[in-house]
Amino acid sequence: MSLPVIDLGAATPVPTPTTRPFWDAAREGRLSVQHCDSCSSYLFYPRLACVECGSRRLSWVETSGRATLLSYVIVHMPAPGFEEAAPYTLAIVRLAEGPTMMTNIVGVEPRPENLVLDMNLEVSFENRGGWVVPVFTPVVEAGR
Ligand SMILES: [Zn+2]
Repeated sequence: MSLPVIDLGAATPVPTPTTRPFWDAAREGRLSVQHCDSCSSYLFYPRLACVECGSRRLSWVETSGRATLLSYVIVHMPAPGFEEAAPYTLAIVRLAEGPTMMTNIVGVEPRPENLVLDMNLEVSFENRGGWVVPVFTPVVEAGR
């Protein structure tokens, strides 16, 4: 028995008016998230209103690009369309500004000994079929 092959051609991002600033910034090599101008929370993913206070006074700000590793899995059985990338690391990172983001960890072999929870990460960007997506790489600490 073989599993059905699912055409995920539609899995590429489809920006909406709410998410377009994120993709436009990524294309310029900037990781941007929303900032609530009422309570100063940072928000990701893009929303119409602040999850903390409900305000619609949101603006887009560039982040520091720094994050820490919150959780990850090493994907050996990839989703359709990602076969050539496997194994790869699918992670949840916590941005220095606070929000969490699902992303990939790149620049290190996807092995547990290379992926230490709370490790420092920095953003980089990959062009995937015309879409520029943020990914993260471990920060090489001085003195190590
Ligand atoms: Zn708020």
